[in-house]
Amino acid sequence: MNPTGTLTKTIDETRQGEPFYSTDYESIVSEDIKRFYIESYGCQMNFSDSEIVAAILTDCSYFPTKDIENANLILLNTCSIREKAEDTIRQRLKTINKVKARRPDTMIGILGCMAERLKQSLLDEEKLVDLVVGPDAYRDLPRLINRVEDGDKGINVHLSREETYADISPIRLESNGVTAFISIMRGCDNMCSFCVVPFTRGRERSRDPFTIIAEAKHLFEKGYKEVTLLGQNVDSYKWNHPDTNEHYSFANLLELVALIHPDLRVRFSTSHPKDMTDEVLHTMARYENICNYIHLPVQSGSSRILSMMNRTYDREWYKNRILAIRSIVPDCTISSDIISGFCTETDEDHQETLSMIRWADYSMSYMFMYSERPGTLAARKYEDDIPEEIKKTRLSEIIALQNAISKAHNAKDIGKTFKVLIEGDSRKSENEFKGRNSQNKMVVFSKEADFKPGDYADVYIESSTSATLKGHIVTS
Ligand code: SAM
Ligand code: SF4
Repeated sequence: MNPTGTLTKTIDETRQGEPFYSTDYESIVSEDIKRFYIESYGCQMNFSDSEIVAAILTDCSYFPTKDIENANLILLNTCSIREKAEDTIRQRLKTINKVKARRPDTMIGILGCMAERLKQSLLDEEKLVDLVVGPDAYRDLPRLINRVEDGDKGINVHLSREETYADISPIRLESNGVTAFISIMRGCDNMCSFCVVPFTRGRERSRDPFTIIAEAKHLFEKGYKEVTLLGQNVDSYKWNHPDTNEHYSFANLLELVALIHPDLRVRFSTSHPKDMTDEVLHTMARYENICNYIHLPVQSGSSRILSMMNRTYDREWYKNRILAIRSIVPDCTISSDIISGFCTETDEDHQETLSMIRWADYSMSYMFMYSERPGTLAARKYEDDIPEEIKKTRLSEIIALQNAISKAHNAKDIGKTFKVLIEGDSRKSENEFKGRNSQNKMVVFSKEADFKPGDYADVYIESSTSATLKGHIVTS
Protein backbone atom coordinates (compact mmCIF):
# COMPACT_ATOMS: atom_id res chain seq x y z
CA MET A 1 0.00 0.00 0.00
CA ASN A 2 1.15 3.53 -0.68
CA PRO A 3 1.12 4.90 2.86
CA THR A 4 0.85 8.50 1.80
CA GLY A 5 -2.32 8.10 -0.21
CA THR A 6 -2.96 10.17 -3.28
CA LEU A 7 -2.93 13.63 -1.80
CA THR A 8 -0.39 16.09 -3.12
CA LYS A 9 1.91 18.05 -0.84
CA THR A 10 5.56 18.23 0.01
CA ILE A 11 6.08 14.60 -1.03
CA ASP A 12 4.05 13.75 -4.09
CA GLU A 13 4.39 9.97 -4.25
CA THR A 14 2.91 9.88 -7.74
CA ARG A 15 5.84 11.96 -9.02
CA GLN A 16 8.67 9.91 -7.52
CA GLY A 17 11.14 9.09 -10.29
CA GLU A 18 9.16 10.99 -12.91
CA PRO A 19 11.47 12.32 -15.64
CA PHE A 20 11.69 16.06 -15.28
CA TYR A 21 11.49 17.88 -18.55
CA SER A 22 10.77 21.22 -20.21
CA THR A 23 9.49 21.64 -23.78
CA ASP A 24 11.18 25.07 -24.08
CA TYR A 25 14.36 23.52 -25.50
CA GLU A 26 12.88 21.04 -27.98
CA SER A 27 13.34 23.33 -30.96
CA ILE A 28 17.07 23.76 -30.36
CA VAL A 29 18.84 21.45 -32.78
CA SER A 30 22.60 21.73 -33.07
CA GLU A 31 25.60 19.44 -33.24
CA ASP A 32 27.11 21.24 -30.24
CA ILE A 33 24.36 20.75 -27.70
CA LYS A 34 24.09 17.75 -25.46
CA ARG A 35 21.07 16.36 -23.67
CA PHE A 36 20.52 15.58 -20.00
CA TYR A 37 17.79 13.43 -18.53
CA ILE A 38 16.88 13.92 -14.85
CA GLU A 39 14.67 11.97 -12.44
CA SER A 40 13.85 13.32 -8.99
CA TYR A 41 13.00 11.44 -5.82
CA GLY A 42 12.02 12.43 -2.29
CA CYS A 43 10.73 15.73 -0.97
CA GLN A 44 9.75 18.85 -2.87
CA MET A 45 13.13 20.43 -2.09
CA ASN A 46 14.72 17.84 -4.38
CA PHE A 47 12.27 18.56 -7.18
CA SER A 48 13.04 22.24 -6.73
CA ASP A 49 16.80 21.55 -6.75
CA SER A 50 16.46 19.70 -10.07
CA GLU A 51 15.20 22.99 -11.54
CA ILE A 52 18.37 24.71 -10.29
CA VAL A 53 20.49 21.90 -11.75
CA ALA A 54 18.64 22.32 -15.08
CA ALA A 55 19.53 26.03 -15.11
CA ILE A 56 23.21 25.30 -14.42
CA LEU A 57 23.33 22.63 -17.14
CA THR A 58 21.62 24.67 -19.85
CA ASP A 59 24.21 27.38 -19.20
CA CYS A 60 26.86 24.91 -20.35
CA SER A 61 24.85 23.71 -23.37
CA TYR A 62 23.22 20.65 -21.88
CA PHE A 63 19.48 20.72 -22.59
CA PRO A 64 16.68 18.62 -21.07
CA THR A 65 15.29 15.51 -22.73
CA LYS A 66 12.61 13.10 -21.53
CA ASP A 67 14.11 10.31 -23.64
CA ILE A 68 16.64 8.46 -21.52
CA GLU A 69 17.97 6.65 -24.61
CA ASN A 70 18.82 9.98 -26.19
CA ALA A 71 20.65 11.47 -23.18
CA ASN A 72 24.39 12.15 -22.96
CA LEU A 73 23.98 12.63 -19.21
CA ILE A 74 21.55 10.74 -16.93
CA LEU A 75 21.00 12.19 -13.46
CA LEU A 76 19.14 10.81 -10.45
CA ASN A 77 18.38 13.39 -7.77
CA THR A 78 18.13 11.15 -4.74
CA CYS A 79 16.61 10.89 -1.27
CA SER A 80 18.05 9.20 1.84
CA ILE A 81 15.24 9.82 4.31
CA ARG A 82 14.30 6.14 4.66
CA GLU A 83 16.15 2.97 3.70
CA LYS A 84 13.47 2.21 1.12
CA ALA A 85 14.24 5.47 -0.71
CA GLU A 86 17.85 4.39 -1.19
CA ASP A 87 16.81 0.85 -2.24
CA THR A 88 14.64 2.39 -4.97
CA ILE A 89 17.67 4.24 -6.39
CA ARG A 90 19.86 1.12 -6.31
CA GLN A 91 17.17 -0.74 -8.28
CA ARG A 92 16.81 2.12 -10.74
CA LEU A 93 20.58 2.12 -11.29
CA LYS A 94 20.39 -1.51 -12.43
CA THR A 95 18.09 -0.49 -15.30
CA ILE A 96 20.12 2.61 -16.11
CA ASN A 97 23.29 0.55 -16.23
CA LYS A 98 21.74 -1.36 -19.15
CA VAL A 99 21.49 1.93 -21.03
CA LYS A 100 25.15 2.52 -20.30
CA ALA A 101 26.03 -0.96 -21.53
CA ARG A 102 24.39 -0.11 -24.86
CA ARG A 103 25.89 3.37 -25.02
CA PRO A 104 29.11 3.43 -22.95
CA ASP A 105 29.66 7.17 -23.52
CA THR A 106 26.55 8.04 -21.50
CA MET A 107 27.48 9.70 -18.21
CA ILE A 108 25.58 8.69 -15.07
CA GLY A 109 25.35 11.00 -12.08
CA ILE A 110 23.91 10.68 -8.58
CA LEU A 111 22.84 13.97 -7.04
CA GLY A 112 21.32 14.96 -3.71
CA CYS A 113 21.09 13.35 -0.29
CA MET A 114 22.28 9.86 -1.20
CA ALA A 115 25.35 11.33 -2.92
CA GLU A 116 26.05 13.37 0.20
CA ARG A 117 25.53 10.47 2.61
CA LEU A 118 27.53 7.82 0.76
CA LYS A 119 30.19 10.02 -0.89
CA GLN A 120 33.13 8.12 -2.45
CA SER A 121 31.67 4.72 -1.44
CA LEU A 122 28.90 5.27 -3.99
CA LEU A 123 31.53 5.47 -6.75
CA ASP A 124 33.24 2.36 -5.36
CA GLU A 125 30.02 0.33 -5.08
CA GLU A 126 28.27 1.43 -8.27
CA LYS A 127 31.00 1.08 -10.85
CA LEU A 128 29.05 2.65 -13.71
CA VAL A 129 28.34 5.86 -11.82
CA ASP A 130 30.55 8.71 -13.07
CA LEU A 131 29.39 11.65 -11.00
CA VAL A 132 28.52 12.04 -7.30
CA VAL A 133 27.36 15.55 -6.40
CA GLY A 134 25.93 16.72 -3.06
CA PRO A 135 23.13 19.30 -2.70
CA ASP A 136 25.48 22.24 -2.15
CA ALA A 137 27.85 21.48 -5.05
CA TYR A 138 25.64 21.89 -8.13
CA ARG A 139 27.52 24.96 -9.35
CA ASP A 140 30.51 22.66 -9.79
CA LEU A 141 28.63 20.40 -12.23
CA PRO A 142 30.18 21.87 -15.43
CA ARG A 143 33.72 21.25 -14.13
CA LEU A 144 32.85 17.77 -12.89
CA ILE A 145 31.23 16.89 -16.22
CA ASN A 146 34.41 18.03 -17.99
CA ARG A 147 36.43 15.69 -15.79
CA VAL A 148 34.18 12.78 -16.71
CA GLU A 149 34.42 13.71 -20.40
CA ASP A 150 38.20 13.50 -19.93
CA GLY A 151 37.88 9.97 -18.59
CA ASP A 152 37.92 10.62 -14.80
CA LYS A 153 35.22 10.34 -12.17
CA GLY A 154 33.70 13.54 -10.73
CA ILE A 155 32.84 13.96 -7.05
CA ASN A 156 31.98 17.00 -4.95
CA VAL A 157 30.12 16.53 -1.68
CA HIS A 158 31.27 19.70 0.03
CA LEU A 159 28.56 21.13 2.29
CA SER A 160 28.42 24.91 2.40
CA ARG A 161 27.36 27.34 5.11
CA GLU A 162 26.42 30.00 2.54
CA GLU A 163 25.15 28.40 -0.67
CA THR A 164 21.49 29.25 -1.40
CA TYR A 165 21.66 29.39 -5.23
CA ALA A 166 19.99 32.78 -4.75
CA ASP A 167 21.17 34.21 -8.07
CA ILE A 168 20.15 31.20 -10.17
CA SER A 169 16.87 31.45 -11.99
CA PRO A 170 15.47 27.88 -11.98
CA ILE A 171 14.23 26.30 -15.20
CA ARG A 172 10.69 25.14 -14.51
CA LEU A 173 10.48 21.46 -15.35
CA GLU A 174 7.17 19.64 -15.85
CA SER A 175 5.43 22.87 -15.01
CA ASN A 176 1.67 23.37 -15.24
CA GLY A 177 2.41 27.10 -15.73
CA VAL A 178 0.19 27.95 -12.73
CA THR A 179 1.94 26.78 -9.54
CA ALA A 180 5.65 26.86 -8.70
CA PHE A 181 7.99 26.19 -5.78
CA ILE A 182 10.57 28.64 -4.49
CA SER A 183 13.34 27.53 -2.11
CA ILE A 184 13.75 30.13 0.60
CA MET A 185 16.32 28.34 2.72
CA ARG A 186 18.51 25.25 2.75
CA GLY A 187 19.71 22.74 5.34
CA CYS A 188 18.44 22.15 8.86
CA ASP A 189 19.86 22.79 12.34
CA ASN A 190 17.23 20.85 14.25
CA MET A 191 18.77 17.46 14.82
CA CYS A 192 15.60 15.42 15.25
CA SER A 193 17.11 12.15 16.40
CA PHE A 194 15.57 10.01 13.59
CA CYS A 195 16.51 12.31 10.73
CA VAL A 196 19.38 12.21 8.26
CA VAL A 197 18.64 15.62 6.69
CA PRO A 198 21.06 17.69 8.85
CA PHE A 199 23.84 15.35 7.67
CA THR A 200 22.90 15.34 3.99
CA ARG A 201 21.84 18.95 3.55
CA GLY A 202 24.06 20.67 6.09
CA ARG A 203 23.52 23.75 8.21
CA GLU A 204 20.48 25.94 7.91
CA ARG A 205 20.88 29.12 5.85
CA SER A 206 18.27 31.56 4.56
CA ARG A 207 18.18 33.08 1.12
CA ASP A 208 18.26 36.83 0.43
CA PRO A 209 14.56 37.91 0.56
CA PHE A 210 14.97 40.31 -2.37
CA THR A 211 15.95 37.45 -4.68
CA ILE A 212 12.93 35.48 -3.45
CA ILE A 213 10.58 38.38 -4.15
CA ALA A 214 12.16 38.93 -7.57
CA GLU A 215 11.66 35.25 -8.42
CA ALA A 216 8.01 35.32 -7.28
CA LYS A 217 7.35 38.56 -9.24
CA HIS A 218 8.92 37.07 -12.33
CA LEU A 219 6.74 33.97 -12.03
CA PHE A 220 3.60 36.11 -11.64
CA GLU A 221 4.56 38.14 -14.72
CA LYS A 222 4.87 34.88 -16.66
CA GLY A 223 1.31 33.90 -15.64
CA TYR A 224 1.91 31.79 -12.53
CA LYS A 225 -0.73 32.27 -9.83
CA GLU A 226 0.67 30.38 -6.87
CA VAL A 227 4.06 30.06 -5.21
CA THR A 228 4.99 27.68 -2.40
CA LEU A 229 7.88 28.86 -0.24
CA LEU A 230 9.99 25.84 0.59
CA GLY A 231 12.35 24.93 3.41
CA GLN A 232 12.87 22.14 5.94
CA ASN A 233 11.72 24.54 8.63
CA VAL A 234 10.38 27.73 7.04
CA ASP A 235 9.43 29.33 10.35
CA SER A 236 13.06 29.67 11.32
CA TYR A 237 13.79 31.73 8.19
CA LYS A 238 15.96 34.69 9.17
CA TRP A 239 18.01 37.14 7.15
CA ASN A 240 19.91 40.28 8.12
CA HIS A 241 20.58 42.94 5.52
CA PRO A 242 24.40 43.11 5.25
CA ASP A 243 24.40 46.94 4.95
CA THR A 244 21.55 48.08 7.20
CA ASN A 245 21.40 45.02 9.49
CA GLU A 246 17.64 45.14 9.06
CA HIS A 247 16.13 41.80 10.14
CA TYR A 248 13.69 39.75 8.07
CA SER A 249 11.70 36.99 9.77
CA PHE A 250 9.51 34.43 8.03
CA ALA A 251 6.44 36.56 8.83
CA ASN A 252 8.11 39.56 7.12
CA LEU A 253 8.98 37.48 4.07
CA LEU A 254 5.49 36.02 3.83
CA GLU A 255 4.00 39.51 3.90
CA LEU A 256 6.38 40.80 1.21
CA VAL A 257 5.48 37.92 -1.11
CA ALA A 258 1.74 38.34 -0.42
CA LEU A 259 2.03 42.03 -1.31
CA ILE A 260 3.29 41.25 -4.85
CA HIS A 261 -0.30 40.89 -6.09
CA PRO A 262 -3.61 39.81 -4.53
CA ASP A 263 -4.02 37.26 -7.37
CA LEU A 264 -0.76 35.51 -6.48
CA ARG A 265 -1.47 32.83 -3.91
CA VAL A 266 1.21 32.05 -1.34
CA ARG A 267 1.76 28.72 0.39
CA PHE A 268 4.65 27.47 2.49
CA SER A 269 6.08 24.22 3.80
CA THR A 270 7.25 22.83 6.21
CA SER A 271 6.49 24.41 9.58
CA HIS A 272 8.19 23.09 12.70
CA PRO A 273 5.80 23.41 15.67
CA LYS A 274 8.52 24.84 17.93
CA ASP A 275 9.13 27.82 15.61
CA MET A 276 5.64 28.61 14.36
CA THR A 277 4.92 32.05 15.75
CA ASP A 278 1.66 33.91 16.28
CA GLU A 279 3.18 36.65 14.11
CA VAL A 280 3.09 34.24 11.15
CA LEU A 281 -0.52 33.34 11.95
CA HIS A 282 -1.56 37.01 12.17
CA THR A 283 0.15 37.64 8.81
CA MET A 284 -1.82 34.75 7.31
CA ALA A 285 -5.04 36.17 8.71
CA ARG A 286 -4.31 39.62 7.23
CA TYR A 287 -3.86 38.51 3.61
CA GLU A 288 -6.54 36.63 1.70
CA ASN A 289 -3.93 35.36 -0.79
CA ILE A 290 -1.87 33.59 1.90
CA CYS A 291 -3.50 30.17 1.86
CA ASN A 292 -5.22 28.87 4.97
CA TYR A 293 -3.25 25.69 5.24
CA ILE A 294 -0.35 24.63 7.48
CA HIS A 295 1.67 21.44 7.31
CA LEU A 296 2.63 20.99 10.96
CA PRO A 297 4.22 17.55 11.41
CA VAL A 298 3.63 16.12 14.89
CA GLN A 299 5.64 12.86 14.32
CA SER A 300 4.22 11.27 17.50
CA GLY A 301 1.42 12.03 19.97
CA SER A 302 3.44 10.84 22.95
CA SER A 303 5.52 13.37 24.89
CA ARG A 304 7.97 10.65 25.93
CA ILE A 305 8.61 9.67 22.29
CA LEU A 306 8.75 13.32 21.20
CA SER A 307 11.47 13.90 23.76
CA MET A 308 13.46 10.89 22.47
CA MET A 309 12.93 12.21 18.94
CA ASN A 310 14.48 15.51 20.09
CA ARG A 311 11.55 17.44 18.64
CA THR A 312 11.87 19.99 21.50
CA TYR A 313 8.10 20.26 22.05
CA ASP A 314 5.69 18.01 23.88
CA ARG A 315 2.08 17.01 23.31
CA GLU A 316 0.70 20.01 25.23
CA TRP A 317 2.90 22.53 23.42
CA TYR A 318 1.80 21.09 20.08
CA LYS A 319 -1.87 21.23 21.06
CA ASN A 320 -1.45 24.85 22.12
CA ARG A 321 0.00 25.69 18.69
CA ILE A 322 -3.07 24.15 17.07
CA LEU A 323 -5.35 26.11 19.39
CA ALA A 324 -3.49 29.27 18.33
CA ILE A 325 -4.05 28.41 14.65
CA ARG A 326 -7.73 27.77 15.27
CA SER A 327 -8.23 31.06 17.07
CA ILE A 328 -6.15 33.30 14.75
CA VAL A 329 -6.87 31.63 11.35
CA PRO A 330 -10.20 29.86 12.00
CA ASP A 331 -10.58 28.58 8.45
CA CYS A 332 -7.16 26.92 8.39
CA THR A 333 -6.66 23.21 7.68
CA ILE A 334 -3.72 21.42 9.25
CA SER A 335 -1.85 18.35 8.01
CA SER A 336 0.90 16.27 9.56
CA ASP A 337 3.73 13.76 9.23
CA ILE A 338 3.58 10.74 11.52
CA ILE A 339 6.14 8.03 12.26
CA SER A 340 5.05 4.64 13.60
CA GLY A 341 7.28 2.35 15.63
CA PHE A 342 10.03 4.71 16.79
CA CYS A 343 12.46 3.15 19.29
CA THR A 344 10.78 1.93 22.54
CA GLU A 345 7.28 2.98 21.34
CA THR A 346 4.67 1.19 23.49
CA ASP A 347 1.07 0.53 22.62
CA GLU A 348 0.18 3.37 24.99
CA ASP A 349 2.42 5.78 23.03
CA HIS A 350 0.79 4.56 19.82
CA GLN A 351 -2.68 5.20 21.30
CA GLU A 352 -1.57 8.75 22.09
CA THR A 353 -0.62 9.22 18.43
CA LEU A 354 -4.07 7.98 17.36
CA SER A 355 -5.77 10.29 19.84
CA MET A 356 -3.69 13.23 18.56
CA ILE A 357 -4.79 12.51 14.98
CA ARG A 358 -8.41 12.56 16.18
CA TRP A 359 -8.01 15.70 18.27
CA ALA A 360 -6.06 17.65 15.64
CA ASP A 361 -8.55 16.65 12.94
CA TYR A 362 -5.83 16.66 10.26
CA SER A 363 -7.08 17.11 6.70
CA MET A 364 -4.39 14.61 5.66
CA SER A 365 -1.07 13.16 6.81
CA TYR A 366 2.07 11.60 5.45
CA MET A 367 2.59 8.43 7.43
CA PHE A 368 5.75 6.36 7.69
CA MET A 369 7.25 3.41 9.52
CA TYR A 370 10.40 4.34 11.40
CA SER A 371 13.49 3.50 9.38
CA GLU A 372 16.80 3.68 11.23
CA ARG A 373 19.32 5.84 9.39
CA PRO A 374 23.05 5.30 9.96
CA GLY A 375 24.80 8.11 11.79
CA THR A 376 21.67 9.76 13.21
CA LEU A 377 21.34 10.45 16.94
CA ALA A 378 18.70 7.72 17.29
CA ALA A 379 20.89 5.15 15.52
CA ARG A 380 23.73 5.96 17.92
CA LYS A 381 21.67 6.21 21.13
CA TYR A 382 18.71 3.83 20.85
CA GLU A 383 17.99 0.33 19.70
CA ASP A 384 15.59 0.02 16.74
CA ASP A 385 13.61 -2.41 18.90
CA ILE A 386 10.07 -2.39 17.51
CA PRO A 387 9.54 -5.45 15.30
CA GLU A 388 8.67 -4.75 11.68
CA GLU A 389 5.27 -6.47 12.08
CA ILE A 390 4.27 -4.17 14.95
CA LYS A 391 5.47 -1.09 13.05
CA LYS A 392 3.33 -2.22 10.12
CA THR A 393 0.22 -2.93 12.20
CA ARG A 394 0.49 0.44 13.91
CA LEU A 395 1.03 2.19 10.59
CA SER A 396 -2.07 0.49 9.15
CA GLU A 397 -4.11 1.68 12.14
CA ILE A 398 -2.77 5.22 11.70
CA ILE A 399 -3.59 5.18 7.97
CA ALA A 400 -7.10 3.77 8.52
CA LEU A 401 -7.85 6.43 11.14
CA GLN A 402 -6.42 9.28 9.04
CA ASN A 403 -8.41 8.13 5.98
CA ALA A 404 -11.62 8.09 8.01
CA ILE A 405 -10.87 11.56 9.40
CA SER A 406 -9.96 12.94 5.94
CA LYS A 407 -13.23 11.54 4.61
CA ALA A 408 -15.30 13.14 7.39
CA HIS A 409 -13.28 16.37 7.04
CA ASN A 410 -14.12 16.56 3.32
CA ALA A 411 -17.77 15.59 3.85
CA LYS A 412 -18.15 18.74 6.00
CA ASP A 413 -17.31 20.81 2.90
CA ILE A 414 -20.36 19.60 0.96
CA GLY A 415 -22.68 22.55 0.39
CA LYS A 416 -19.87 25.13 0.69
CA THR A 417 -18.48 27.25 -2.16
CA PHE A 418 -14.70 27.66 -2.49
CA LYS A 419 -12.46 29.88 -4.57
CA VAL A 420 -10.40 27.37 -6.56
CA LEU A 421 -7.26 28.05 -8.60
CA ILE A 422 -7.56 25.96 -11.78
CA GLU A 423 -4.35 23.93 -12.33
CA GLY A 424 -5.34 21.88 -15.41
CA ASP A 425 -7.33 18.86 -16.52
CA SER A 426 -8.32 16.35 -13.87
CA ARG A 427 -6.49 13.06 -13.95
CA LYS A 428 -9.59 11.10 -14.92
CA SER A 429 -11.31 13.23 -17.54
CA GLU A 430 -10.47 15.98 -19.99
CA ASN A 431 -13.99 17.30 -19.48
CA GLU A 432 -13.09 18.21 -15.91
CA PHE A 433 -10.71 20.67 -14.31
CA LYS A 434 -8.74 20.15 -11.13
CA GLY A 435 -7.50 22.80 -8.76
CA ARG A 436 -7.11 23.50 -5.07
CA ASN A 437 -8.92 25.69 -2.60
CA SER A 438 -7.10 27.84 -0.06
CA GLN A 439 -7.15 24.90 2.39
CA ASN A 440 -5.10 22.83 -0.10
CA LYS A 441 -7.92 20.41 -0.87
CA MET A 442 -8.05 19.02 -4.39
CA VAL A 443 -11.28 20.04 -6.12
CA VAL A 444 -12.54 18.46 -9.35
CA PHE A 445 -15.33 20.08 -11.37
CA SER A 446 -16.84 20.17 -14.87
CA LYS A 447 -15.26 22.55 -17.36
CA GLU A 448 -17.14 25.70 -18.29
CA ALA A 449 -16.52 27.98 -21.25
CA ASP A 450 -14.48 31.09 -20.35
CA PHE A 451 -12.46 29.26 -17.70
CA LYS A 452 -8.88 28.10 -18.23
CA PRO A 453 -5.91 26.96 -16.11
CA GLY A 454 -4.61 29.88 -14.08
CA ASP A 455 -8.11 31.32 -13.53
CA TYR A 456 -9.89 31.38 -10.20
CA ALA A 457 -13.36 29.81 -10.13
CA ASP A 458 -16.02 29.68 -7.40
CA VAL A 459 -16.89 26.02 -7.04
CA TYR A 460 -19.91 24.68 -5.18
CA ILE A 461 -19.12 21.32 -3.54
CA GLU A 462 -21.63 18.53 -4.18
CA SER A 463 -19.78 15.41 -3.06
CA SER A 464 -16.47 14.24 -1.61
CA THR A 465 -14.13 11.30 -0.99
CA SER A 466 -11.24 11.08 1.48
CA ALA A 467 -8.94 12.69 -1.14
CA THR A 468 -11.09 14.97 -3.31
CA LEU A 469 -13.98 17.42 -3.35
CA LYS A 470 -16.29 17.39 -6.37
CA GLY A 471 -18.53 20.19 -7.54
CA HIS A 472 -19.51 22.70 -10.22
CA ILE A 473 -18.63 26.29 -11.03
CA VAL A 474 -21.09 28.90 -9.85
CA THR A 475 -21.25 32.15 -11.76
CA SER A 476 -22.91 35.22 -10.29
N1 SAM B 1 11.60 19.22 8.00
C1 SAM B 1 10.34 18.64 7.97
C2 SAM B 1 9.79 18.49 9.38
O1 SAM B 1 10.52 18.53 10.35
O2 SAM B 1 8.61 18.33 9.51
C3 SAM B 1 10.26 17.31 7.26
C4 SAM B 1 11.45 16.69 6.74
S1 SAM B 1 11.48 15.04 6.24
C5 SAM B 1 12.03 15.26 4.61
C6 SAM B 1 9.84 14.53 5.98
C7 SAM B 1 9.33 13.52 6.97
O3 SAM B 1 9.99 12.29 6.82
C8 SAM B 1 9.51 13.85 8.43
O4 SAM B 1 8.59 14.79 8.88
C9 SAM B 1 9.32 12.51 9.08
O5 SAM B 1 7.98 12.24 9.38
C10 SAM B 1 9.80 11.54 8.00
N2 SAM B 1 11.08 10.91 8.39
C11 SAM B 1 12.26 11.52 8.55
N3 SAM B 1 13.19 10.61 8.95
C12 SAM B 1 12.56 9.41 9.03
C13 SAM B 1 12.97 8.10 9.40
N4 SAM B 1 14.22 7.85 9.78
N5 SAM B 1 12.05 7.10 9.37
C14 SAM B 1 10.78 7.35 9.00
N6 SAM B 1 10.34 8.58 8.65
C15 SAM B 1 11.21 9.60 8.67
FE1 SF4 C 1 14.72 16.39 9.78
FE2 SF4 C 1 13.79 17.47 12.02
FE3 SF4 C 1 15.18 18.97 10.29
FE4 SF4 C 1 12.71 18.13 9.66
S1 SF4 C 1 13.26 19.53 11.34
S2 SF4 C 1 14.53 18.07 8.36
S3 SF4 C 1 12.64 16.13 10.60
S4 SF4 C 1 15.98 17.25 11.48
